[in-house]
Amino acid sequence: MSSVLNTDLTSRRFAQLINGRSVQGAGTSEIIDPGTGQVIATAPTPDTDQVHEAVEAADTAFKVWRLSPASERRAALHRIADTVEEHAEELARLLVLETGKPLAVARDMEVEWAVRWVRYFAEQELAPEVMREDADGRFERHHEPLGVVAAIIPWNFPLFQTLYKVAPAVLAGNTVVVKPAPTSPLHALFLGELLRDLVPAGVVNILGDGGEAGPALTSHPSVRLVSFTGSTAVGRHVISSAASTIKRVVLELGGNDAAIVMPDADVDAVAPEIFSWSFFYAGQICTAIKRIYVPDALYDRFAEHFARLADEAKLGHGLDEEATFGPIQNAKQFERVKEYLATAHADGKVIAGGVVDPRPGYFVPPTVVTDVDDDSVLVREETFGPVRAILRYSDLDDAVSRANDTEYGLGGSVWGTDIEAARSVAGRIESGNVWINTHVAAAPDVPFGGIKQSGVGAEFGLEGLKEFVENKIIYVPNA
Ligand code: NAD
Repeated sequence: MSSVLNTDLTSRRFAQLINGRSVQGAGTSEIIDPGTGQVIATAPTPDTDQVHEAVEAADTAFKVWRLSPASERRAALHRIADTVEEHAEELARLLVLETGKPLAVARDMEVEWAVRWVRYFAEQELAPEVMREDADGRFERHHEPLGVVAAIIPWNFPLFQTLYKVAPAVLAGNTVVVKPAPTSPLHALFLGELLRDLVPAGVVNILGDGGEAGPALTSHPSVRLVSFTGSTAVGRHVISSAASTIKRVVLELGGNDAAIVMPDADVDAVAPEIFSWSFFYAGQICTAIKRIYVPDALYDRFAEHFARLADEAKLGHGLDEEATFGPIQNAKQFERVKEYLATAHADGKVIAGGVVDPRPGYFVPPTVVTDVDDDSVLVREETFGPVRAILRYSDLDDAVSRANDTEYGLGGSVWGTDIEAARSVAGRIESGNVWINTHVAAAPDVPFGGIKQSGVGAEFGLEGLKEFVENKIIYVPNA
């Protein structure tokens, strides 16, 4: 197999993986490098027939794969992890080119985490259990695979998101159809090329997407679970499309995470950390800090610190090692971020950034806004981009209730010197994850998920694995 990066990507023929074969699309789409605004590759896109072909291939493969020994599934996952590791550099560079993230983040975080998660699931087991046993007989619980899983992926950490869905699905005996976001399919199509000989035909299928593949998957009667990561708005469509055939859904949706700075916080220590969790990957993370509550007494110093860090950011392409701050991932999101900038000027005081960078590509510098009311769009909505509001509070209870005044409940964090006091506030934050003096601590064996309108179900850990199986109870009377 030739290296994806030894050739000009514009002349490379990316293909979908359907039923163990490389399949050209019914159509094509142009993929843009957000760090230059230039077309870098052409990707295949499926029509509805190809989506159905992939689901039917997965359905046929399921009949055999569900009966395969656990050792075979484990071995397949280890082969996938080894191969991804072997091709880490190529995958990382593709991720940089299509998602705009810095190379170090793509390689040392995204690819590395993807491998770690696959290896974790390769070692898990859902053995049958005896739930109850008495003089008359016993109840056994067996974990049955569901069937075809549709894995629908956003564009921000797509290789990681793909593999942490594929690994537990396949381990549990399911088969999968992966659908990347329309603007970031290249790493997935390359992954399909790598997987072609690592799993039996039809066990993992990887499509492109011109924008219509998602609904074709979620409405297909043979899909038994939709494992979806994306916005809350699209999550609602997924639920309603899944309803007619009573599919299961696991939804990892949007977030509007709050960070509460405690009155005893050391501003010099916490401001840089809060800054990096606010603006990491240009703020385009579900669990980025999106609202920052700072006590009156620390507010001005905190805001100055934030503005200084924003002014020091060096914008650039993900392959530019000097750059500390990359582009917005796609043109549509770029337009949305421009609207946030206009709102920032209208609703608050912009103390850093605030204007689009004129270079080619989709660059917006980190933008810091103070003196914003809670009813501003910047506070109420998920600002998926590099615009952050610093909100003032004078009463801690009031800060907690404002932090909870949102439809979202994905993550949150509390920052302070007295860990027990911070722990007590963390207990009152309404979200699936709350971190103290950091934001986003994740591990493959710890379940992750949102509450309220940030999600349904869990990923990672045994709870995450159990989303890919259903209980089958067998009652066995004593002889
Ligand atoms: P999005 O919801 O626009 O798209 C996500 C995926 O859904 C894409 O593959 C898209 O093509 C597909 N899709 C779009 N319409 C569909 C439909 N009707 N039916 C089925 N699939 C459809 O999200 P995005 O812009 O790619 O990503 C950003 C969003 O994702 C943010 O809201 C972010 O918070 C969220 N996100 C959440 C998590 C999490 O773990 N909770 C992680 C990353 C991103």
